[in-house]
Amino acid sequence: MGEKIVNILLVEDDEVDVMNIKRAFKKNNVTNPLFVCNNGLEALDFLHGKRDPSIVDLPKIILLDLNMPKMGGIEFLRELRKDESLKNLSVFVMTTSNEDKDKVDAYNLNVAGYILKPLSMERFIEAVSALNNYWKLCEFPDK
Ligand SMILES: [Mg+2]
Repeated sequence: MGEKIVNILLVEDDEVDVMNIKRAFKKNNVTNPLFVCNNGLEALDFLHGKRDPSIVDLPKIILLDLNMPKMGGIEFLRELRKDESLKNLSVFVMTTSNEDKDKVDAYNLNVAGYILKPLSMERFIEAVSALNNYWKLCEFPDK
């Protein structure tokens, strides 16, 4: 199993959800560095190295909210998949949207999973634990 810890990008506009994810990371002892962008546009800039040029290893895993201002999750995914340098990133949708259309669109854009945001913190921690076990198991390319 790879020793390398990959960076994770959370794309989320809701401050409370950002806090919940951070808490769930802590509770599960998730050590992957977590970066946060508040919408799709910010995230694209970040992934192109435009927001923080000091970051050497750009995130390989993205946790993506769908409903966000400026650029929502599905539109972001469309841009990502068109982009030669970003199209291989693993994206997990984390949303409150239970709309079938969103699920169809997301999977058509090759998301690694579509997760409904749990209502309780306890379930949130469980969900992040499952995700952590999954990405710890996976190998990612160096570049
Ligand atoms: Mg949102």
